Amino acid sequence: MEKIGIYCRVSTQMQGTDRQKFDLLQHAEERKIKIPQCNIFEDVISGFIAGEERPQYSRLLDEIEKGNIKEVWYHELTRMARSSVELLSEIQKFRDRGIKLYFHKQNLTIDPNKPNDIGQQILLSVLSVCAEYEIELFAERSLSGKIQKIKTGGGVTADSHAYGYMVDKDGKMAINEEEAAVVKRIFQMYADGYSTFKICDALNAESISTSYTTRLARSKERRERKDLPPKIYKNFASVDDFKWIPSVITKILNKKLYCGHRHVVFHKPVVNKEKRKEMQEKGEKPDVVYTYDLTLDYLRIVDDDLFQRVQERLLQAPYNKNNTTKHDNLLTHKIRCGECGSNFSVGKGSIAIGGISGERTYRCYGRINRSDKPAICTSGAEVRQWRLDGLVVHLSITQFAKQNIETNINQQVEIRQKQLSEIESIISDKEKQLTEIHDKYKRQLKRLSLLEDETADEVLREEKSRHDDETYRINKEISKYKKDAAEHRSRIAVLNTLSKQVNIYQRIDDIWRNKTLIKAMVDDFIERVTLYKVESKWYLVVINYVNGSEFWGTIKNARYKNSEMFYDELLCKHGIELQTWVINNEEKCFTYNKEAKTVSYNGKSEIYTDIDAGEYDYEAFNKILTDKGWIGSYPLYDFDNGEDTPIPELTEPDRW
Ligand SMILES: [Zn+2]
Repeated sequence: MEKIGIYCRVSTQMQGTDRQKFDLLQHAEERKIKIPQCNIFEDVISGFIAGEERPQYSRLLDEIEKGNIKEVWYHELTRMARSSVELLSEIQKFRDRGIKLYFHKQNLTIDPNKPNDIGQQILLSVLSVCAEYEIELFAERSLSGKIQKIKTGGGVTADSHAYGYMVDKDGKMAINEEEAAVVKRIFQMYADGYSTFKICDALNAESISTSYTTRLARSKERRERKDLPPKIYKNFASVDDFKWIPSVITKILNKKLYCGHRHVVFHKPVVNKEKRKEMQEKGEKPDVVYTYDLTLDYLRIVDDDLFQRVQERLLQAPYNKNNTTKHDNLLTHKIRCGECGSNFSVGKGSIAIGGISGERTYRCYGRINRSDKPAICTSGAEVRQWRLDGLVVHLSITQFAKQNIETNINQQVEIRQKQLSEIESIISDKEKQLTEIHDKYKRQLKRLSLLEDETADEVLREEKSRHDDETYRINKEISKYKKDAAEHRSRIAVLNTLSKQVNIYQRIDDIWRNKTLIKAMVDDFIERVTLYKVESKWYLVVINYVNGSEFWGTIKNARYKNSEMFYDELLCKHGIELQTWVINNEEKCFTYNKEAKTVSYNGKSEIYTDIDAGEYDYEAFNKILTDKGWIGSYPLYDFDNGEDTPIPELTEPDRW
């Protein structure tokens, strides 16, 4: 016996007149094949409704599972599935089980044992194209449905879930009065001068639900209604754990939606998974199909005046990212906290001194304590920028100047020159690209202006926003490259003047006065600056250089007395110097133990032969170095104000 099964799907309307079974049995007879009654599977169904029960189909799969059926005959492809998507998955299902398929009307056989059959391959690939096309059609149809809905005030998009809103029983976006009152309060408090932290504290103290809490509660309710098990969230134990945090407040304060401005962008659906992934990786966005941009008074929670006042305050906020770019920080990227390993960030010291920009400080990022992010470092340092910058530059500059003489400056110039010409050619390419985009846009405009209908308007808007986006992006790139090029040019100029002198003191002086060179020294020559807070008064500064050498210095983190400062016209260019001991530890004979806060010396140094080997507490170590006279002095350095800007003389030294 051939183990052949016949499957028929008969619709209720077609019953009686349907020839499927008859034709297939005749086909068997012509081939002298006997098909027993139990191998005929016939489902009568009302229509091709997804998920409709088909008992005979289930029995067919059972028989296949048992090994009683090896081949299935269909009258035609349409009897197997309603769409090419379904057809493809059905065929795959049988192929996976090693079952041969035969479609009578198409006279088509699909045999999994002959995977190289050309006809079969063509059919399958055509089917998969059709399937994708069908999904795309479906996605587009559902997208146009969504667009239609949003035009009539409905449509569930991300903004209809925003805090302060809800979807009402008619499926339209509406104000959630309870939440809207909180939104109004947040705007009012911020406009009145409260910080985002203070606003959080106030809302949390009153146990006002956050947006997450209410949305999760809603989702839980929906799942219960549908008899679904509750969802488990890994990152938090319960929704009650949610508290208001400053970043959420900032997001709310920035949302134009609260003035009733609804802005929704619809993108063309990308069905193909691989293509979607590829676009994501490249950061490309699918084409914009439709942009909904309208101010609706029935969605307004905050009036324009209040919103405007809040925007103005946001711009002035000290933690606003745009503000930090105003300052140049010399060492931030090189400093590590010796206590906790964190990087350093830049802060603002509490006392302003004589108008020196050095009121800015470097501080261990791990010790920053905010209500949403508790500190992890209890003993990290915070030190005035011009003090640490001065010490580091002072300790590095002689070595750097020497190295600068030793290495071939011309070679460095050559490398820079080459990089510069590369950057310049990129810039000219980008500028060409910009012209092309603009020309193309002008041609489009001309073409579209000849058409006089609504779609032309829409296309025009779309083209304009695409043109603007692209120009903006490229211009931004160009300005970045131009900045790069300018930096290269100024470094080349400096290196050229430097190469003309061989006097080291002259060279040190040149470097001191040149901001670009100082930056080059820090970037290329210093590997890391590690800061230990030995005790509240003393910081240990360890500088590691790329050539393997190591220097130590110490900073007294206290107000200096007049007697501790001095002015030496020969050494000091900027008026004030501070005294400190400095050690050349390139032999690595000194080690600092941060737990015990002691310094060990192994006694093997060829430079520091006067010191006995042993372990010293910091106070004792300080005293030895001071007594031996290994004291250096370093000037303050105000990197932010640029080259040749002297630090003003302090009139009230006791204050700091
Ligand atoms: Zn730290």
